[in-house]
Amino acid sequence: MENQLEKVKDKLKEKGFKLTPQRRATLEVIINNQGKHLSTEEIYDLVKVDCPEIGLATVYRTLQLLDEISVISKMSLDDGCSRYELNNHEDDHQHHHLICQKCGDIIEVEIDLLEHLEEEIEKVYNFKINDHKVKFFGECSKCC
Ligand SMILES: [Zn+2]
Ligand SMILES: [Zn+2]
Ligand SMILES: [Zn+2]
Repeated sequence: MENQLEKVKDKLKEKGFKLTPQRRATLEVIINNQGKHLSTEEIYDLVKVDCPEIGLATVYRTLQLLDEISVISKMSLDDGCSRYELNNHEDDHQHHHLICQKCGDIIEVEIDLLEHLEEEIEKVYNFKINDHKVKFFGECSKCC
């Protein structure tokens, strides 16, 4: 985790920002909860445990900043709630998400599987693909 924090610190510095205690506390929550896709409110509740004086607006702004500099990425679901996760594979394409419409579970698909489609799109549309966000909606193994 120290390693990940150091990386973020460098990235912030590069862009002219500091790793303030509030930003650090917010990041620690995200790093410690990888794979959980926490919402802003959930992150706020966890940050408050170590940093009781922090406000929701600060957490919100921190998340926006970290998203802007690509330290984390935002995932929007149809429930209107934004969820965040650490951007682990900066140069890679983002993993896909399987979203269970019954229990709300979010499962990650680590394999890209889109290479063929990407190749075809690049060829037909003369468009260079850098990344994608793919969400599949359905029922998870516990629900179907
Ligand atoms: Zn891809
Ligand atoms: Zn389910
Ligand atoms: Zn994910």
